[in-house]
Amino acid sequence: MRSNRFLIVAVILLAAVTSPLAAQHPQLDELREEVRQEAMSLEKLSQEIVDMVFSHGELGFQEQWTAAYLTGVLAQEGFDIQLGVAGMPTGYIATWGNGEPVIGFMGDIDGLPETSQRPGVAYHDPLIPGGPGHGEGHNTAPAVDITAAIAVKRVMERHGLAGTLKVIPGVAEELVASRTYMVNAGVFEGMDVMLSTHVSNGMSTGWGITGSGLVSTRFTFHGRSAHGAGSPWAGRSALDAVELMNVGWNFRREHLRLQQRSHYIVAHGGNQPNVVPSEATVWYYFRELEYPRIKELHELGRTIAEAAAMMTSTTVEERVLGSAWPSTMSKPLAERMQANIDRVGMPEWSEDDITLAKAAQRLMGVEERGLRTEADTLREFSQGMGGGSDDIAEVSWNLPTVRLRYPANIPGMTGHHWSSAIAVATPIAHKGSNAGAQVIAMTAIDIVTDPQLVEEAWRYHREVQTKDYQWVSLIPEGTEPPTFLNAEKMSQYRPQLEKLIYNPTR
Ligand SMILES: [Zn+2]
Repeated sequence: MRSNRFLIVAVILLAAVTSPLAAQHPQLDELREEVRQEAMSLEKLSQEIVDMVFSHGELGFQEQWTAAYLTGVLAQEGFDIQLGVAGMPTGYIATWGNGEPVIGFMGDIDGLPETSQRPGVAYHDPLIPGGPGHGEGHNTAPAVDITAAIAVKRVMERHGLAGTLKVIPGVAEELVASRTYMVNAGVFEGMDVMLSTHVSNGMSTGWGITGSGLVSTRFTFHGRSAHGAGSPWAGRSALDAVELMNVGWNFRREHLRLQQRSHYIVAHGGNQPNVVPSEATVWYYFRELEYPRIKELHELGRTIAEAAAMMTSTTVEERVLGSAWPSTMSKPLAERMQANIDRVGMPEWSEDDITLAKAAQRLMGVEERGLRTEADTLREFSQGMGGGSDDIAEVSWNLPTVRLRYPANIPGMTGHHWSSAIAVATPIAHKGSNAGAQVIAMTAIDIVTDPQLVEEAWRYHREVQTKDYQWVSLIPEGTEPPTFLNAEKMSQYRPQLEKLIYNPTR
């Protein structure tokens, strides 16, 4: 047994050194198949992670139950756990193995406000009315990442393969507020590649620059309270400043590039009408396509905030919360991942899966096309007119990063909405997440056994991806992660959520 194991390793290493076609070496094919079988055998674990994290329904920076549960699963498998990464209590790094390559597994873990939904029913049925939920399906990502990492670990152990695996969650992705802090704290130093994952209704990967970048920031105005009727002249309304800032921004919007996207909420608007609000806060996301333009848009926001303060004789202070560049995805890694997508293909959907999908599509008034049956082909991304942002971007400018979109949801659902939570704790999500884990595990084995792939990914990263760009964080130096966000909201909902926590033994 022992000598066999070393023979396999020796053959693989020899192949890697002597042949540029190492990826096609029969031993590598066997290892890939072995890790795929290992991931498939962890189907029950994938399912439990999906359902457990769904039931937690925790919002960004408050993923305490989720982090405790996931680190428990990883610790049990022999991963070393480091908690409180980069000043974030729910951030962790789970590490296993020795030496190079150092491979990261990263997916998001946070939920969204207002998206509580009973899974598996094609009508609006919130588990907690108005409560948080997984209306994006981030609950499925740790199932992919952890299932894959465990499968890879077991195969590496069996064959004595060198390498280090690190599972790192995307905390508070919906707030776009963790990865820039992680990069600044040096979390990714010494890592070779990042395999990232995101829920989708299909199976795909790609390369190039994608999405918008953004700055998320809050302006708090300070005025002077007074009796709203008795002595309004003595007051200086902070809410007036918020409203004037928004009016100013909305007029200015007409004269901005069409590629910009900006939106705001009033986070605090005062207490009651007869008290002139002495404090009011507006929270903006400023999105654009490139670093200098994002900076410019943010600057303009600051100018308009200051102008609003001047108009109202109030003062303004700013708290930047998060930021991201647009993402840049690695071509060499995407090509290798695509080959594994082609090997795995889409899950086999049951009649029940398709019935649920069509009922949900009917409900949402979109074409009743059921579930997708074919994986996508490799594509080069383009930013187009911009759109969403994801702070995996911050990682992608610092080390070769690839993203797998795996099929754990129904096509045609509305994003950031309860409809996107209908399928993400059903067999659709269980199968899709396990299929995703197979692809990630196989790609990790490619990386472990083919040092040339890492070299090529880094060459491409240096010479193509970052040739014209030097990444710098968009948050002001010294900014701390805003881990206070969602704290109040979550403490309000925890007692109700606690009763709904999934119990795998039932
Ligand atoms: Zn997401």
